[in-house]
Amino acid sequence: MEGGHNEVIVADNFFTGTKDNIRRWIGHPNFELIRHDVTNPLLVEVDQIYHLACPASPIFYKYNPVKTTKTNVLGTLNMLGLAKRVRARFLLTSTSEVYGDPLEHPQTEEYWGNVNPIGVRSCYDEGKRIAETLAFDYHRQHGVEIRVARIFNTYGPRMNIDDGRVVSNFIAQALRGEEMTVQVPGTQTRSFCYVSDMVDGLIRLMEGNDTGPINLGNPGEFTMLELAARVKELVVPSASWRMVDNTPDDPRKRKPDISKAKAILGWEPKVTLREGLPLMAADFQERLGLTDKKQQ
Ligand code: UDP
Ligand code: UDP
Repeated sequence: MEGGHNEVIVADNFFTGTKDNIRRWIGHPNFELIRHDVTNPLLVEVDQIYHLACPASPIFYKYNPVKTTKTNVLGTLNMLGLAKRVRARFLLTSTSEVYGDPLEHPQTEEYWGNVNPIGVRSCYDEGKRIAETLAFDYHRQHGVEIRVARIFNTYGPRMNIDDGRVVSNFIAQALRGEEMTVQVPGTQTRSFCYVSDMVDGLIRLMEGNDTGPINLGNPGEFTMLELAARVKELVVPSASWRMVDNTPDDPRKRKPDISKAKAILGWEPKVTLREGLPLMAADFQERLGLTDKKQQ
């Protein structure tokens, strides 16, 4: 909307999203919101499609794994069918999960991944892998213009407070005066990208000439114990954590090689975790109806 496009249509089934996040645009003459599930066909006239649909939090995508696979397969097929019919450019938000529990570190786009095809995460990671396959086959077979981003862990304001992923969990727990739940062993790593950097990368990819896949993420890598310590330092100094069980097939490390994004898109993240965590915490604080714990 801020880019000045004169027609923006959002289709969402609100399984994990909320109307509240787009409230400021509702009623704007250039903006249209459709309650729609992409596993069903969608008939609209558009020039560009950002295909973002699919729950990305393990808790949500494991809740109804068959539906998650349908979203990745049928949903992507429908959006590619739409792109083919109206000759729109199609951008897929794929994921670092296509690398599975990676045997190469950091991960480049050339790495083919180490994924369990029958595990509890496979509805998501194999789902996104077949979504990439569909995108490249529509490109090769039907000439559809595609753009594929592989998104690494992203966080920021307006994230669902009960999303279940680690950054939102730790911040919400710390603010509520609960112990942060560090899943064992706590030495597993992730690299966290602030939402505004991610949006900038996605728009550059859509507007550029490269199909991808292109890694989008922040190469700053942290263990979960380091993340808990950062939340304590920057958000709630009195916060503490406890170790809890982990879930199967949790990747032990993850860090993007973003050389390609730098060279092709002229993109790299600007917001560090140290800067981003307090921005997210301020939004959570407001939505939780809490006052600033640091000033108490
Ligand atoms: N599709 C859609 N919107 C459109 C065009 C197609 O949702 O504007 C769906 C359509 O229902 C189909 C899928 O996209 O199930 C794939 O379309 P495609 O034309 O590639 O396949 P076909 O219809 O030939 O099976
Ligand atoms: N994790 C954690 N505590 C939580 C939630 C997650 O320690 O309350 C860990 C989890 O074991 C994983 C990492 O945080 O190693 C990232 O998990 P998340 O669900 O945020 O995303 P993923 O990268 O696994 O999709």
